[in-house]
Amino acid sequence: MKKACSHLEAIGRHRTAPVHPSGHGCVECLKTGGEWVHLRLCLTCGHVGCCDDSPSRHATKHFHATSHPVIKSFEPGEDWAWCYEDEQVLERIPTYPGESPPVHYAAPMSAP
Ligand SMILES: [Zn+2]
Ligand SMILES: [Zn+2]
Ligand SMILES: [Zn+2]
Repeated sequence: MKKACSHLEAIGRHRTAPVHPSGHGCVECLKTGGEWVHLRLCLTCGHVGCCDDSPSRHATKHFHATSHPVIKSFEPGEDWAWCYEDEQVLERIPTYPGESPPVHYAAPMSAP
């Protein structure tokens, strides 16, 4: 049996302030001209990174670099969170305005 995830419990119940997304795309991909599939928002510091279906997986790399355990989907209409440390998902977390983008932000260089 899995242990309960205290990180997601804190996110689900005790959050008192929003995080501010670092931008409209993956921080590292925007710097390097990389592309992404979906975006993830770090609920500790607001880092926006790309998902594990993306070539560079910057959201996961951000966790390994910083130990910030919980991300939220940074896609329109998605409000689930994921804890990397405990590998657990929490559906329908309370979100603040700005934590869910109005549209899917695509990588700027999809065209050659
Ligand atoms: Zn956890
Ligand atoms: Zn990326
Ligand atoms: Zn972070």
